[in-house]
Amino acid sequence: MQEKLCFYYSAMKGGKTSRIFSKIHDLEEIGQKVLLIKPGKDTKGENQIVNRLNQTRTVDILLPSTSKIVTEETFDRIYECSHIIVDEVQFLTPEQIEELWTINKNTNIPITCFGLLTNFQGKLFQGSKRLIELADERLELGTNSLCTCGAPAKFNARKVNGVFTMEGDEVEIDGASSSIEYVPLCGTCYYNKVYRKGKMGKCIKPKTRLS
Ligand SMILES: [Zn+2]
Repeated sequence: MQEKLCFYYSAMKGGKTSRIFSKIHDLEEIGQKVLLIKPGKDTKGENQIVNRLNQTRTVDILLPSTSKIVTEETFDRIYECSHIIVDEVQFLTPEQIEELWTINKNTNIPITCFGLLTNFQGKLFQGSKRLIELADERLELGTNSLCTCGAPAKFNARKVNGVFTMEGDEVEIDGASSSIEYVPLCGTCYYNKVYRKGKMGKCIKPKTRLS
């Protein structure tokens, strides 16, 4: 059987971590050896993943963005495992995504990735973009993540000191600074509350005619 490279995505607060915990549970129950990878860029929880019930699991590889996935140090663990799970996959570089693909196709080890599609500006993360291109299966996770209006959320809006913004670096981990939080929003609310507001804020001065 051809094992797959899979990408499961949702907006933030979409219950991805809970899905990872149940996936690991299911695999280990049938005797599979799971290898859990998390990018070091996600500083939340350090070398652990934490779900909403505060259950934790230590990751096997905390991957720096400058590093290869297969190194002298990780080689044995990767080739001995029966299933690779990647959390916060959007933070991987396109090169690291290609390496996941290579591992999957060369070893036939199944790889299941979880993450976000787009950043706070509504643009694809580079890692997610490459994964959409290469994954054998891409699936949007249910509608766990709801907008403030009740519609399913697709966007991850950023608030700084309580105000929505489209400015700033792509990666700002919430919780690292108390002034930053993320709010899952539907397309309409994102357009009205974040995008349009930001644009209008920029041209708030009425234009005066010279003639
Ligand atoms: Zn909405």
